[in-house]
Amino acid sequence: MSVEQTLSIIKPDGVEKNLIGEIYSRFEKAGLQIVAARMMHLTKEQAEGFYAVHSERPFYKDLVSYMRSGPVMVTALEGESAIDKHREIMGATNPANADPGTIRKDFAASIEENVVHGSDGPETAAQEIAFFFGDGGVCPRTR
Ligand code: ADP
Ligand code: MG
Repeated sequence: MSVEQTLSIIKPDGVEKNLIGEIYSRFEKAGLQIVAARMMHLTKEQAEGFYAVHSERPFYKDLVSYMRSGPVMVTALEGESAIDKHREIMGATNPANADPGTIRKDFAASIEENVVHGSDGPETAAQEIAFFFGDGGVCPRTR
């Protein structure tokens, strides 16, 4: 086990459903600490850039438009095995396949509108955190 950071996004449907506190509470109860947070409306360039890895997928255009359909909460979280822990709390991409008690099982409407994003590995976590919080945007938890 090691302390990691991961990038977490409450997507526009999660913000619209007023789930920010509920979702952060689940992360905090699992021992993850918020080290950066920002509400923002993604530009087209930001949404396209963030999901560039999916640019060849048939759902890419819709995904970019969904991610720009309202404000998102972007957060960096830190803790033991933060990347896997965060993905476990989110649940599977398709809510139909998500385990009971996960965020996506409880709140997601579809495989696209699935409430949350979480990094999928150490390299993407570092890239994604730098994408939103580069240049000193992450705050050390000194208490
Ligand atoms: P995850 O968010 O679980 O890491 P992916 O990285 O595979 O999943 O996909 C990124 C996002 O693209 C998903 O969270 C979802 O919003 C959307 N998405 C994934 N697969 C589909 C699909 N088959 N149809 C529509 N949207 C999809
Ligand atoms: Mg992914």
